[in-house]
Amino acid sequence: MRAEGQSTEFEVNCPLPNTHSRLSQSHRLWHQVLETYNDHEGFRANLNAAIEALRNVTFMLQNEKHAIPEFDRWYAEWREKMKADPVMLWLCEARTIVVHNSDLETQSTAIATVHNNLSLAHISLELPPMLPFDTACELVATTLPEPFSSNKKDLVLSIERRWVAKQLPDWELLEALAHAYGVLSNIVKEAHERAGFRFESRHCSGGKCSIPTDGRLPCMITTAEIRTARIALADGASLVCRQRPFQMKREQTMKAVKRYGFDKFKVPLTVEGDPFHIAESLLPLAKQILQKDKYHVRIMFLRTPQQWTIRQIDARDRAEKYALIRTLANEIRQLHVDALIEISEVWMSSVDEFKAGRLPSEARDKKEALVVIVATSDGNCRQYITMFKRNMLGQIKLEKTEVVSSTPSYLAPILEVWGVNVSTRG
Ligand SMILES: [Zn+2]
Ligand SMILES: [Zn+2]
Repeated sequence: MRAEGQSTEFEVNCPLPNTHSRLSQSHRLWHQVLETYNDHEGFRANLNAAIEALRNVTFMLQNEKHAIPEFDRWYAEWREKMKADPVMLWLCEARTIVVHNSDLETQSTAIATVHNNLSLAHISLELPPMLPFDTACELVATTLPEPFSSNKKDLVLSIERRWVAKQLPDWELLEALAHAYGVLSNIVKEAHERAGFRFESRHCSGGKCSIPTDGRLPCMITTAEIRTARIALADGASLVCRQRPFQMKREQTMKAVKRYGFDKFKVPLTVEGDPFHIAESLLPLAKQILQKDKYHVRIMFLRTPQQWTIRQIDARDRAEKYALIRTLANEIRQLHVDALIEISEVWMSSVDEFKAGRLPSEARDKKEALVVIVATSDGNCRQYITMFKRNMLGQIKLEKTEVVSSTPSYLAPILEVWGVNVSTRG
């Protein structure tokens, strides 16, 4: 694995070699902190090292200030910004503690949530640092209060493990370190630019990457899921969410264009585009795929500030579905996603069947439908529902598309991330 900023052809003439290398070291150490999350001793050692490396970035910058025009005036502004940032203040204090050979007071805690689409109970607990995750889940599952100890059907238990420092109780430590890295990375970037150089952010793999304005690297952003375990309460089975980035290689794209006749359609998949307009452009494509393949995989398009990313998602039962949406909600929060479009093939049934306790797939009047849903962080949602039938030969006959503006209840965890009032929605 290569950390960002190891010497490459781009940095041969780096104006701030020591500053740059401390920043790269702190990236590498951040990963080591993550890798030792369940190993108390290793975690402490790496945490101490990461704090020192991060703090050393600005020390080195001051040593190398001769390379930066009008350093003092420029740096004074950053100093003010850092003073107003609780994480940067903590970093200074923490480094003082660490270099004086004592450890930070840290605590291994966890937040357990019992949920289906909605969060039904939150339990905060201290977790012995060495306790394996599975054991922690089992332990919490056996000590749940009523009604969860008797009625477990379709419920999920999610446990998010968190290391926190006593002096910074509201921040999970990896997120705090990532935030500090982001601030420092922005300073180093600006310093390079002032010295007339371009600063390239690099992935662990060494490749160039674009980063959000807060300066964190993409590998530092989605850590909540790595720290989270989910089990089905009914049988204790671990729920691993099956979703993966959906990417088409060029030749597959060419095949798709030929197979589905996509060249007739134009989808303006840009971050500036209106998500509702994009969803309407995707609808005829989805119909074409369904008619040709007789099925449509479930995919979700997520709009981050930089781009649309596409996920193929898959869940076998209700518990898996509930776990999956939580996983996506976590990503949506951390990647600052503000719009989503989902395409799926679903079973639909009447309200009466639902009231009788039958799932749409088990209902007497069940019908198949192709559904395109678009939802945005300001609370707007639209569903394009196209019922369809299969004839004896398996051919698909689509009915007229209906447009409804209600939000499906399973999106509740995502709406919660967006601060949209969940309780008023069906
Ligand atoms: Zn450099
Ligand atoms: Zn990385």
